[in-house]
Amino acid sequence: MAIFVHNSPMTISDALKQRDLAVNWHPCTQMKDHEWLDMIPIKRGEGIYIEDFDGNRYIDAISSWWVNLFGHANPRINQAIKNQLDELEHVIFAGFTHQPIIELSEQLTAITPASLQHVFYADNGSSAVEVALKMSFHYWRNKGQPQKKRFVNLANSYHGETLGALSLGDVELYKDIYQPLLLDVLTAPSPDAYLAEEGESARDFALRQFAAMDTLLQQHADEVCAVIVEPLIQCAGNMRMYHPVYLQKLRQACDKYQIHLIADEIAVGFGRTGKMFACEHADISPDFICLSKGLTGGYLPLSAVLTTENIYQAFYDSYDSLNGFLHSHSYTGNALGCSAALATLDIFKTDNVLENNQHLIRYMQSATEHFKDHPHIADVRQTGMVLAIEMVQDKTSKTPYPWQQRRGLKVYQHGLKHGVLLRPLGNVVYFMPPYVINTDELQKVIDVAWQGVQLATQN
Ligand code: PMP
Repeated sequence: MAIFVHNSPMTISDALKQRDLAVNWHPCTQMKDHEWLDMIPIKRGEGIYIEDFDGNRYIDAISSWWVNLFGHANPRINQAIKNQLDELEHVIFAGFTHQPIIELSEQLTAITPASLQHVFYADNGSSAVEVALKMSFHYWRNKGQPQKKRFVNLANSYHGETLGALSLGDVELYKDIYQPLLLDVLTAPSPDAYLAEEGESARDFALRQFAAMDTLLQQHADEVCAVIVEPLIQCAGNMRMYHPVYLQKLRQACDKYQIHLIADEIAVGFGRTGKMFACEHADISPDFICLSKGLTGGYLPLSAVLTTENIYQAFYDSYDSLNGFLHSHSYTGNALGCSAALATLDIFKTDNVLENNQHLIRYMQSATEHFKDHPHIADVRQTGMVLAIEMVQDKTSKTPYPWQQRRGLKVYQHGLKHGVLLRPLGNVVYFMPPYVINTDELQKVIDVAWQGVQLATQN
């Protein structure tokens, strides 16, 4: 359809692009790129597809930044939100409560590791990380240990963009510029299996890397509040993966040195690793778990931090002790978000999701075997529903392509031309699809990625 803008015919899509770029500043984007890189106005979404104004459909193979679990416009989640909308959209969550949030907290405490008994809400992943950091520091202060005020992270980790969360990350691209503003953290080397020696197993490498973490914790135990990790997959850090034994060792060490363990399951929670929560692979219970993204099925911004009875009790005191956690966000516990989350958890229960995903997990694994032989692919790795392909300049030495060449962007552009939304992280192409994808659709994603990799690695 054509409309007239400044007396010349323009498609709706072109007009929207123009209006968008005049006023919007997009996340994680060098806006100048859009002088040559297309901006795509989306009209509607359905299932695994998003559709633009020209009728092109794209498979959302990255679940719209890892949030979507059961497809766009999922009828059950839609209905739950509509029902909630007629009752209560939002109410202040201090002094007041509502049914959806009570049910949600009951369910979250039931499905997360057993010692997590109390839920504090925020409205995005970074804010959840801030809550966990502040709670951990405040816990030690309430316990008479105010000198515990530092945090430990892993090399190549990512925990969000607000200043506290950014401090705990270690991805140069996002962090370096802001370094003068950030907390001084202690960083242990990553257990990332990609860095293992030739012939060394992921488990052995994780154990070897753990030695440095152990030393760090031992040396700094008196000043460290908590260690924060992304269990099993460092998602924004190029989908690097590690063996669960590292989490077991870390749990033991945190107990030994009296340091909290914060599990940031914002990206890996809700089935991404094949189990409901990544911590289950190691059979450990953290002191804090941060959840967001898939929590609402990808519908609404909501996040939660779950913690233990012991930590909760350290704040439970008379008002004038100032031991209370006086932290709030205006939209804490939004009722619409909670209703979307309840519908999401209901789908997990009634549709046997984790069990059915096993089929997709196996399919992804076998259908990507041939990538391993590609001369410019150094690694094909998978944890559950996340599969990543690392393109390199030299396969033997694993020499990366210089980031300035933006090879991943070529895969992105190829994907869009062929109806698949892939959004590589640097030189790493990955799939993190909604769970409602079928094997034919997965095959299409894999085929398009294969062609994209061929193109991107030419000369
Ligand atoms: N932690 C992890 C592990 C993440 O992957 C992300 C987002 N990609 C965040 C925290 C931050 O979440 P948000 O973008 O909602 O602030």
